[in-house]
Amino acid sequence: MENKLKLEIVTPYGLVFSDDVDEVTAAGSEGEFGVLPGHAPFLTTLKRGMLTYKKGNEVRYFFVNSGFAEVGPDKVIILADSAERSEDIDVERAKAAMKRAEERLKKAEEIDFARAESSLERATARIQIAEKRTAR
Ligand code: ATP
Repeated sequence: MENKLKLEIVTPYGLVFSDDVDEVTAAGSEGEFGVLPGHAPFLTTLKRGMLTYKKGNEVRYFFVNSGFAEVGPDKVIILADSAERSEDIDVERAKAAMKRAEERLKKAEEIDFARAESSLERATARIQIAEKRTAR
């Protein structure tokens, strides 16, 4: 479609989102980037963080857990380890994951530190992004 971007978010759990949108902003490993229709093609790795898209007057938010973005003049394809729309984030589940990770990190021995830290980061980002949910 002219002057539109096809945004697709794909994870090993399935297709999370697919629609034509006006603008996408995501957390690239080199920093945040914004894409409008007609953007020059590029490929980047993504940091764990927030992805936003605009469609008309609507702004929506997603949690994206690392991965890759392939950008073209009429598309943004996100391949991520996991991703959820802010409205779909289960905050209680994220709080439980956060608590588990914090308890593991407190023990500070015989734990997989990087794994507990990643889990803590995912949970923290989910809780923050869940607050961005749009009122319907
Ligand atoms: P948990 O420890 O609660 O399983 P996790 O960070 O290990 O969390 P992931 O491996 O990132 O979970 O994701 C596994 C699947 O569960 C994915 O489909 C992801 O979208 C979903 N998921 C994980 N946490 C949440 C959440 N808080 N709300 C909604 N979906 C979630």
